[in-house]
Amino acid sequence: MLSGGLQKMAAVPGADSVGTVEYRLRVGEHEVGLNARIGMPLSLEWHGEIACTNCGRNTRKSFGQGHCYPCFKRLARCDMCIVKPELCHYFQGTCREPEWGEASCFTPHVVYLANSSGLKVGITRKTQLPTRWLDQGAIQGLPILEVATRQQAGFAEVLLKEAVSDRTNWRAMLKGDVAMLDLYAERDRLLAQFAPRLDALRDTHGGDAIRRLDARAQAFTYPVRTFPTKVVSHNLDKTPKIEGVLLGIKGQYLMLDTGVINLRKFTGYQVSVA
Ligand SMILES: [Zn+2]
Repeated sequence: MLSGGLQKMAAVPGADSVGTVEYRLRVGEHEVGLNARIGMPLSLEWHGEIACTNCGRNTRKSFGQGHCYPCFKRLARCDMCIVKPELCHYFQGTCREPEWGEASCFTPHVVYLANSSGLKVGITRKTQLPTRWLDQGAIQGLPILEVATRQQAGFAEVLLKEAVSDRTNWRAMLKGDVAMLDLYAERDRLLAQFAPRLDALRDTHGGDAIRRLDARAQAFTYPVRTFPTKVVSHNLDKTPKIEGVLLGIKGQYLMLDTGVINLRKFTGYQVSVA
């Protein structure tokens, strides 16, 4: 039995021939491998408390994946410009935490294509790959542009979103019948289609601010014994104790024979796992 605050799972591509993702459950100070638990019963019980992942105070409700309301309103990482980086307002002098912004947003970012429930575009800090893809349950990923700041990544993504979704259909992702894509062909098609407007962005931000990458595509296999045919989701707010046989793990979801649960949604929830 493990007790403590739930965190998102740690995930790394495995060393086996198909790169099966290795997951570790993180609860408080504890960290345990989960792949070996597949096929076995698992229970997760919430004790009714949520500790803010920033300040540790108890909060009745979780805001922005594990924050209390004051931290949610105060932290730059919880601001709208993190989700929509094109809205970065650092240069207006209104960044909630300018030093955090300089360290986190004024660093190399990549614009990538991934295949989670089909083709999607996304952005992330360069150092967050492949973690970002594994958190989305992507079976493929390919970085296509490197840019100097998060805001520039946002500008490029806004363009590409005209042609490609930036969302994952999590039900489709969890059903597992996602077809492999030729990400190189998709990249070439998109970069050609948007070349004039990407050039215009380069003119605004400087020649080497937005660079095309010739990276290698990566593919991932998830530890799943049986994919659900009908996706039912567990919610600790409504049912504080969930039990079932662990059938697989994909993205930040545990798939139990009784339903799936997105662990990331319950970051900071004080739970016991057995
Ligand atoms: Zn807090």
